[in-house]
Amino acid sequence: MEKRIREELLALFKSKLSRPMEMYLETCARCGICTEACHAYASMPLPKYTPAYRAEVVRRIYKNYFRWQGKTVPKAGECKKLDETIIDELKEAAYSCTGCRRCMVYCPFGIDTQQIMSIAKLLLVGAHAEPELLSLLADVSISKGESIDSFKEGFLEGVKNLEEEVVEKWRHEAGRTPIPTEVVGAEILYVALAGAHSIIPAAAIFNAAKENWTLSFFEAVNFGAFVGDPTKTKIIMDRIINEAKRLKVKEVCICECGTAFRVMSQLSGSRPFKVSSITEVHSRYLKEGRIRLDKSKFNVPITYHDPCQIARNGGVIDEPRYILSHLTDNFIEMSQDPKYNWCCGGGGGLVALGEETLDFRMKSAKVKAEQISKTGAAILATACENCHTQLSNLNEHYKLGMNVQFLSSLVSDALAK
Ligand code: SF4
Ligand code: SF4
Repeated sequence: MEKRIREELLALFKSKLSRPMEMYLETCARCGICTEACHAYASMPLPKYTPAYRAEVVRRIYKNYFRWQGKTVPKAGECKKLDETIIDELKEAAYSCTGCRRCMVYCPFGIDTQQIMSIAKLLLVGAHAEPELLSLLADVSISKGESIDSFKEGFLEGVKNLEEEVVEKWRHEAGRTPIPTEVVGAEILYVALAGAHSIIPAAAIFNAAKENWTLSFFEAVNFGAFVGDPTKTKIIMDRIINEAKRLKVKEVCICECGTAFRVMSQLSGSRPFKVSSITEVHSRYLKEGRIRLDKSKFNVPITYHDPCQIARNGGVIDEPRYILSHLTDNFIEMSQDPKYNWCCGGGGGLVALGEETLDFRMKSAKVKAEQISKTGAAILATACENCHTQLSNLNEHYKLGMNVQFLSSLVSDALAK
């Protein structure tokens, strides 16, 4: 590796060295408590799938260049030079980790392997060795933000075509637009994903609650975060922040996308609006009596998969259960404590990589498939697009026979007049 490239990569490494990150890199006692916590290891017990092994790939570079071991005893100090030979190891470590943070809740020191893997991902970006598709998708989002006027017309036309289906789900008061856009001073800016499934049920529920809302021009998903590029993550996030400020909304509601919710709620700093997940908003509507649900709609057992970025990493745990208590008397918990729920195996950009990662995703999520199967439920609900895709793949692969549904879709189908 050229000296200049190594220096650039080490500068990227250094940019990640916050106090907590240094603690994560220096503290591991190799106690192994986290080993079984990782779904990849629990499903495929190979040392390379343990959280501590993954972290060690990054830790050895850290020791070589940022700690005394590298200067005094590089051979004995478990150090590793940053060169071409380590790039494949970084890639294997980073893209076999979904960033679910289940290992962190087991670790006695709270070591955040997902954060350590963010260094691995950044080094891959710097070395142009990241999965190209993720960077490409991030670039598409960025260019959309730069040329908003050129795609507005097509977007508005697409939205218009969905209005009839929204009204079918919830009759609409005359004079109101079923899918409002560009409403200055709206209470809520709803940020959806590309696709009718993310817009139609949400619109019906907003309208049933008589919400003053407006649909964002931008999709919620942040491919910059999946690929671990902080610059692109910020540009993609800022498009939504600027739109929310321009429209002077009071709240930004993120659709069923775990990463989008985590990025907007945890990385957007101080802002003049509140950030909520759509699950929190629906739970609030039920509490305030703004919507009612018909329990007779689903007469089968329902289970719920907690998306890692919304539940364990986002704290939204009670809200989906509150919604489910209005949907059914036959709710079956998947794990004793949702904080310890198994990851679906599709996060961290793995689902976005599609077929390329399918084999690994199915094998590494065997424990998840078993957990789902044990519930004996007929409907498997979740509140994240990535999880929904991965769970649908698992359903097919392991022949689970479940009906995989978005929670918002169940809510919109059960809306009572
Ligand atoms: S964050 Fe999740 S996938 Fe990554 S090492 Fe920890 S348990 Fe495994
Ligand atoms: S539980 Fe924590 S301290 Fe123990 S091996 Fe895992 S990361 Fe290291």
